[in-house]
Amino acid sequence: MVETPAPLRLEIDSNKIAWLVFDTPDSRVNLLDSRLMRCLDQRLAELESRIATGYPVAVILWSGKPGTFIAGADVNEIALIEDEVDGRLKSAAGQRIFRRLERLGVPKIAAIDGACLGGGLELALACDWRVASDSRKTTLGLPEVRLGLIPGFGGSVRLPRLIGIQRALSMILTGRSVSARIAHRYGLVDQIFPSEGFRAYIATVALDAVLGRVERLQPGLSTRDRFLEGTAVGRRILFGNARKRVLKASGGRYPAPLAAIEVIRETLELSIDEALPVEARALGRVATTQVGRNLVRLFRLGQAARKVLSPDVVDRAREIEKVAVVGAGVMGGGIAELVAANDISVVLKDIDQDALDTGLRHANELLQKAGKRGIIAPTEVGLKFALIHGTLTYETFEEVDLVIEAVIERMHVKRQVLGEVEEVLPPHAVFATNTSSLSVTELGRTAARPQSVVGLHFFNPVHRMLLVEIIRTPFSSEEALATAFKLAERLGKTAVLVADRPGFLVNRLLAPYLNEVGFLLADGADVAGIDRALTDFGLPMGPCRLLDEIGFDVAAHVAKEMVRAFGDRMRPSAALDTLANLGRLGKKNSRGFYTYSERDERVDREVARAFGAGRRTVSADEIVDRCLLILLNEAMYALSEGVVSRAGDVDLAMVLGTGFPPHRGGPLAWADSLGVYVVRDRLKELQDAHGERFAPAPALERLADSGGSFTAV
Ligand code: NAD
Repeated sequence: MVETPAPLRLEIDSNKIAWLVFDTPDSRVNLLDSRLMRCLDQRLAELESRIATGYPVAVILWSGKPGTFIAGADVNEIALIEDEVDGRLKSAAGQRIFRRLERLGVPKIAAIDGACLGGGLELALACDWRVASDSRKTTLGLPEVRLGLIPGFGGSVRLPRLIGIQRALSMILTGRSVSARIAHRYGLVDQIFPSEGFRAYIATVALDAVLGRVERLQPGLSTRDRFLEGTAVGRRILFGNARKRVLKASGGRYPAPLAAIEVIRETLELSIDEALPVEARALGRVATTQVGRNLVRLFRLGQAARKVLSPDVVDRAREIEKVAVVGAGVMGGGIAELVAANDISVVLKDIDQDALDTGLRHANELLQKAGKRGIIAPTEVGLKFALIHGTLTYETFEEVDLVIEAVIERMHVKRQVLGEVEEVLPPHAVFATNTSSLSVTELGRTAARPQSVVGLHFFNPVHRMLLVEIIRTPFSSEEALATAFKLAERLGKTAVLVADRPGFLVNRLLAPYLNEVGFLLADGADVAGIDRALTDFGLPMGPCRLLDEIGFDVAAHVAKEMVRAFGDRMRPSAALDTLANLGRLGKKNSRGFYTYSERDERVDREVARAFGAGRRTVSADEIVDRCLLILLNEAMYALSEGVVSRAGDVDLAMVLGTGFPPHRGGPLAWADSLGVYVVRDRLKELQDAHGERFAPAPALERLADSGGSFTAV
């Protein structure tokens, strides 16, 4: 045995097999940070000398962390890349170390039991064999494009050579991970063994590899694929189509996937040593684009949001074995599905059998869809649905650790539910309300155990929107908050802690944004033009379509609450009333800005007539400025009131909760790209032209006076 320093140990067993054990101290996962890379380089040097003298006869890459192999590079270090040259050099440095591993003159085996992502998979690709466990935690992927990067430690070069162009493009361009089973089908993994006793299997594989007895899986290609992948014409078609798909999906806003296609195309025919510099140059270019920087920042903000509670508070979180959802409507059904999909047993309670049946059906449909899309294993769909127990009574509530209340948006109903639930809940259980506009503090005040009441605000559709707002009241205990955070994390959501102010954060910022639609229509802008301006900006849907989804009645109700809380700057135009007077509620009664017939979906002529659309041409720039600068201005009010504690939370919440385009980094990052003086001047122009609602917030004025940056608030 040879003792070497952490985070990487070199152990040589009695069969003369070297085990490189990745085990970063004080960390749940292994990350390929610069310290680990340096260590790897040293161990490889040591291995080279040892191999020259006869042994070890094989090298196994092993993780000392249960459930993960290597989870990727350290994003904090990626954020430090200074410029293109720095990016290229860092990529080349990593490539050199992996190449050194690849060149060791003995069989190298990556033993993958758990997440093998990003740089971790690139490392595995430099081995001769990849052997995976059958654990559900074993996933393999190259998620770099999600951070605006390309695989830059040889992954863009080695993956297509190993599994073919089409599969490599699919993995690299989507950033999606695959299970061990699919990786095996792709030829990315050579063998799969049970997780139980994995170490012993790996030792056997290593001995077989030394004796040349491990078979390499060669997935066959169809005639069509042989043409597409193996001929110049076929490849031209493949790369052309991939480019078109990327441009269609992202409008060309994200440089990394296009760069990845180019690297693969350019390097396929080159030797590894000629190819790697091409990859490094491309990595340097994409890592330093503003889009890349925005995506990396958002990723880090997501990580920081998880750490908002101090570790001693996090430790106080309760175990969650059973959840109850009260109210089986649009939200309740979706939340029940989400909870069950994450293997937590859930009671779904309503007062109405039809509503309950609809909620259960909705949950089942969502699970079926997730099964079809491969998000959950098809065999597990039924098992997960069986975790949802529908009921009209509180009979099993005494076993519940956390209740999510999602009944109709009326304070007296919520109070009544709270009272009933508290009678049957165990004392440790948390009561989390999903209200979007009522005061959680007011609700908590009436509780028998106000310390157990928090807000847990999901967004619609629950399974898709990655954000939850967690609302703390003056009475909420740290234990209750920590438990809510823990649940959010288990459900795969990013939680942002917000103060109990009307509209919390996201809906408050959306209110003036949506109101502006009415003013724009009154000024002669047309529905399609408004929506197009904002989808061209990068939003997933325009504000008119969003209002259709929300419903004009709900939007009008929220607007009233907002005016009551924040005064005239939130006062909507008369447009929503005009629409309501025409009997329009939005998508739910198929009468919104758009028609919702099965045959076509277009702007309803009646809406166009009601507003005399097109009287004045309102430019796309004006539409974007009016809708988004007013939203930004509201963010400055919210920040100065302490609705969230960091500017970054505004950007994170708006990207995850509304689909604000990630490549722009969120409203504050976007405002920084314009510059604080430009933003203030433009708001003042809009104030002069359209009214006081555009008056710059005092916090924004102060920021401009000091020449500061929005994202540093
Ligand atoms: P919904 O009208 O679709 O469903 C409400 C359900 O509550 C109905 O099934 C109703 O039968 C049930 N219910 C009423 N009184 C009850 C009681 N005393 N006990 C048990 N069940 C009862 O409403 P929704 O859209 O799902 O909204 C639910 C909550 O979530 C509201 O507080 C809403 O503000 C909030 N919310 C809604 C959205 C959204 O987009 N719909 C988004 C975020 C938050």
